[in-house]
Amino acid sequence: MAYSADVIIVGSGIGGLTAAALLQERGFSTLTFEKNKYPGGSCASFTRQGYTFDVGASVFYGFSGDDKSGTLNLHTRIFNRLGVDVRTIPDPVQIHYHLPNGFEVPVFYEKDRFLGILIRRFPHQEAGIRAFYQELESVYDILSALPAGSLEDFVHVIQVGAGNPGKTMALALKTFQSMGKVARKYITDEELLQFIDMESYSWAVQDAVSTPLVNAGICLADRHHGGINYPVGGAGAIPAALCEGIKKFGGAVKYSCDVEEIILKDGRAEGVRLSNGEVFTGRAVISNATVWDTFNRLVKDPRYNIPENRFLRAPSWFQLYLGVDADVVPEGFHVHHILVDDWERYSEIGGTIYFSTPSVLDASVAPEGKHAVHVFVTDEVHRWNSYRRGDSAYKKAKEAFGASVIKRTEKILPGLGDALKVKVLATPLTNQRYLNRYKGSYGPLLYPGQNVLQKPQNRTAVKNLYATGDSTFPGQGVIAVTYSGVSCASYVARKLGSPLDYL
Ligand SMILES: Cc1cc2nc3c(=O)[nH]c(=O)nc-3n(C[C@H](O)[C@H](O)[C@H](O)COP(=O)(O)OP(=O)(O)OC[C@H]3O[C@@H](n4cnc5c(N)ncnc54)[C@H](O)[C@@H]3O)c2cc1C
Repeated sequence: MAYSADVIIVGSGIGGLTAAALLQERGFSTLTFEKNKYPGGSCASFTRQGYTFDVGASVFYGFSGDDKSGTLNLHTRIFNRLGVDVRTIPDPVQIHYHLPNGFEVPVFYEKDRFLGILIRRFPHQEAGIRAFYQELESVYDILSALPAGSLEDFVHVIQVGAGNPGKTMALALKTFQSMGKVARKYITDEELLQFIDMESYSWAVQDAVSTPLVNAGICLADRHHGGINYPVGGAGAIPAALCEGIKKFGGAVKYSCDVEEIILKDGRAEGVRLSNGEVFTGRAVISNATVWDTFNRLVKDPRYNIPENRFLRAPSWFQLYLGVDADVVPEGFHVHHILVDDWERYSEIGGTIYFSTPSVLDASVAPEGKHAVHVFVTDEVHRWNSYRRGDSAYKKAKEAFGASVIKRTEKILPGLGDALKVKVLATPLTNQRYLNRYKGSYGPLLYPGQNVLQKPQNRTAVKNLYATGDSTFPGQGVIAVTYSGVSCASYVARKLGSPLDYL
């Protein structure tokens, strides 16, 4: 059978593009279909009136210049492999937390400086603070020593296990641990435990007890090693570079191509059908859509349907993209902030405010004398379903909710409301429509107490159909879906007869 390409990829999120780029570089032909006019999904940028706004992600790991082996530092090693360049700017503070009772914590790149802030507020917990963050460090040490690959690839697992028996065993044991339970081994102060909850909620949208220790070991330790780095020109520089790599090795990313169906024959994926009726076939199909979209929308056979509650569905977002006068941003202002007014409400809809102003680091993303600001809070699509796009009632509701968020955000940046020059508002309906994500969700989460390995890997119930992105192990976040793309490409490459070399 003559295939359109060896591998067809549905969606150009970072998971899909990473898998496509590594497979293409390995010599497999790939065709990636993206419904939008640009790549990147939640890790893209868009421009409005001279501002470049990040659609979603703007805190990036994995760009350290120190190219040591292991599962971390993946962006540097992938871009080296592809021979493409992404310039980044180091960010000295991962997140500046503004918490109840005047508790302020900028998480500095220098770990001792960060721990010093915690220890000054909780001197009676000094030993516990050091011991807890050392536990995260030990996970980091293991992960940075093991090569990235697929946990479903028997050969990889045996090779890694045989080459690093102690570390593999230690990691296996740590997969059973939760970040919050480990914290409670060392820490008793309630306010400090609330801060630890915020440390996980900031990226996992779950409290620390519900968050696997292994994931925490990546995010909360690597920030003090590889650090946080912002790509020059905005988040969209990352998918742009992956697309450059795909093209360089002969692959193609096709835009404005909405995949309507993943075609199955005799229980095997054969290819895809676009909304214009065109059909493309491949030896393998990789879906970068969410698990719900893949199995309840794209795969038409109801036997493969996935009930929503198979996973815990994370909420969606209400987002504000703001252009502001530069005068409102004080000298030395940090890029990323999180504001919690009330510990009782932090995990409720809209309870935590996420804020970033990347133009503080990279002036190219805003016009001269201005800053680009991105503010977002959790939200749910059911609050917006009664509105119709374009209706004045929808616009009014967006404006009203946006104004309430801006008012609260003035605790971080006084005068924000009066400094606005540009305002773009996005509801969960926008997230659902642009990102093609079920209910605009941040994605499926594990239920509290589940082992991180219970997150789906890259194989699916359908033969020749694979999955990548934040519905798969290890989960949400750009570095996490990059790992998922690497492991998916590794598995598919071995299956198709030409395994990848380790990065
Ligand atoms: C508001 C927000 C802030 C975030 N902040 C951070 C952060 O600071 N740091 C961080 O690391 N992570 C952050 N994240 C998370 C991170 O952005 C995501 O986890 C990650 O980018 C998801 O990647 P993915 O590969 O799963 O694909 P997605 O980003 O979901 O992209 C999937 C792509 O596939 C396309 N697609 C889907 N279905 C089809 C179809 N049928 N046909 C054609 N195309 C299709 C979509 O249009 C989309 O482009 C944030 C996310 C959000 C929403």
